Amino acid sequence: MKEVRTTCAYCGVGCGIRATVTGARSVTIKGDAVHPANFGKLCSKGTHLGETVGLEGRLLHPMLGDQQVSWDTALEAVADKMRDCIERHGPDSVAFYVSGQLLTEDYYAANKLMKGFVGSANIDTNSRLCMASAVAAHTRAFGEDIVPVTYDDLDEADLILLVGSNTAWCHPVIWQRIEAAREARGTKIVVIDPRRTETAEQADLHVPVLPDGDVALFGALLDDMVRRGLAPGDDHSSEHGVSPDVFAALADIVAENPRMVTVFSMGANQSVAGTDKGNAIINLHIATGRINAPGMGPFSMTGQPNAMGGREVGGLANMLACHLGFSNAERTDVAAFWQTDRLSAAPGLKAVDMFRAVHEGRIKFLWVMATNPAVSMPDAGFVREALARCETVVVSDVIADTDTARFAHIRLPALGWGEKDGTVTNSERRISRQRALFAAPGEARADWSIIADVAARLGHGDAFAWQSAAGVFREYAAMTALAVKHGKVLNLTAKAAVSDAEYEAMEPFIWGGRHPMAGREMRHVSVEARKRAFDPDFPLRLNTGRYRDQWHTMTRTGLAPTLSQHRREPLLEVHPADAVAAGVVHGALAMVMTASGQSTFRVCVTDAQARGQAFVPMHWTDAMASGGRGNLLLDQAVDPISGQPGFKDNACRIAPV
Ligand code: SF4
Repeated sequence: MKEVRTTCAYCGVGCGIRATVTGARSVTIKGDAVHPANFGKLCSKGTHLGETVGLEGRLLHPMLGDQQVSWDTALEAVADKMRDCIERHGPDSVAFYVSGQLLTEDYYAANKLMKGFVGSANIDTNSRLCMASAVAAHTRAFGEDIVPVTYDDLDEADLILLVGSNTAWCHPVIWQRIEAAREARGTKIVVIDPRRTETAEQADLHVPVLPDGDVALFGALLDDMVRRGLAPGDDHSSEHGVSPDVFAALADIVAENPRMVTVFSMGANQSVAGTDKGNAIINLHIATGRINAPGMGPFSMTGQPNAMGGREVGGLANMLACHLGFSNAERTDVAAFWQTDRLSAAPGLKAVDMFRAVHEGRIKFLWVMATNPAVSMPDAGFVREALARCETVVVSDVIADTDTARFAHIRLPALGWGEKDGTVTNSERRISRQRALFAAPGEARADWSIIADVAARLGHGDAFAWQSAAGVFREYAAMTALAVKHGKVLNLTAKAAVSDAEYEAMEPFIWGGRHPMAGREMRHVSVEARKRAFDPDFPLRLNTGRYRDQWHTMTRTGLAPTLSQHRREPLLEVHPADAVAAGVVHGALAMVMTASGQSTFRVCVTDAQARGQAFVPMHWTDAMASGGRGNLLLDQAVDPISGQPGFKDNACRIAPV
């Protein structure tokens, strides 16, 4: 039996794991007591990772249609289709849609191939759905995508505001850390959320803001701090829906506790005003001087295990690698580093626009890696139509039959958690190793090496001649010298010459230090309380989100029987008065209808749901064969700055089935 130190496959907390391999495909899991992200703690999902490592449902061989083929044949087919598409329709007819599940090395390779050698920036990631608004807010305020705090600041805060974050369910180990701070130093906890979630139940104060009322609420808070002499200038606030009593309690607690961390997550980011929400939060910290010191700062918690790593190496369509943009000076340096004359000239299409371009036939070749957009994108029915129309869909995945894989012309078997080697970056900028526990099953291969092989077939072999994940990491680390040259904080140059053995043994580390913005200029950005128009045909405001024990589209957590016990099916949560008005009954089925689609859910009547609002989960899929598809109901409206879709405030109506 061997024990391997690795990192959890799921959320952006990035917990360290000690995995003891007990058989060919079996493992026992415990928390890594010395990993600084979790000090030995794990949540239910991490604890039950061992139940998900079997080979049931795995994609083990390259497939052309339904036919198993050799890697040579499959890679040649991918390269042929790409080359043909580029020659006939130009580089922008090709796109990659990748994932925060990829390791940083995979992400780096995909980004380099697309932006550097295909010559288009049409590579975007499901992180667009997760934290693109936080990225845009950081960039506007700090000039770079920097999270200006670490988990240690949670330990040292007197007040933690949780905005749009059901932390107890979605980042449980962070929640345990917050509870420990409360125990140790009496830290106050305030939850700003339209729903009375399990986190809100346990807070000192729950502030039930209106959906998308956060910008107005933080504007009003800033006004209040100005009146109290705690911040300079003035601001203008509009409707946030919080009662005067609750607002006064919130303003008092904020005024009295300068050591304040504001954790914000999907409830803030997944909005048509997501970037402005992030900046409204950051503005409050900048204006009151609550940043760059212990126990203070705005803290974007990422959803995915490697959303941050993707951000670092340019997984988003609107940036190059290493936090660099598309200015002439930055492009010149990136082109020289990659030794290419094909570097994309401008940002590419963000996720929602990318699938629109597929739908319209402008993108003819789409390579989807480690994600399931047929379920997870908003207006998922439209995305399915787009996939069905696309000339060539390539899917790299560990699972053979996902809703997206059903549209694939070519499927490539990728390594999964416990098989692949590389690095991930968690929400506090901590880079940790994911290490292999098992040999590659079947013919599955690492994503970075699949990409490198396609690049070689397109004639770019010299630029992709890595022998290992360590080689990719070294190149990325060396490239951060360009970030330093352009005044960024991101700097891994000290790791650019790590040996394979040093990479193998690499301990978790944070880049940028504890308070990376100290001494740097930060900007107070003007924000707008953008809202959707009320539609009388759809009088309820539909919110969507996650359950405690499920992850994304359940391709992994659906394999763990223990995790299914928490919530066995997707529920429509609705206030008692709205249930009566619509004639729906607790425990019966109801149809949820929007302008985009409809789906059936079992009803849960609860006063934890505010009147006029409804909630459904995002996880269930056709491939899982049980009802309630949340993302079929959502429209394609996005934040105009970040391009992140608004998953939390769609107009709907409900009716009995
Ligand atoms: Fe994994 Fe996140 Fe749970 Fe930690 S909190 S064990 S990273 S799912």
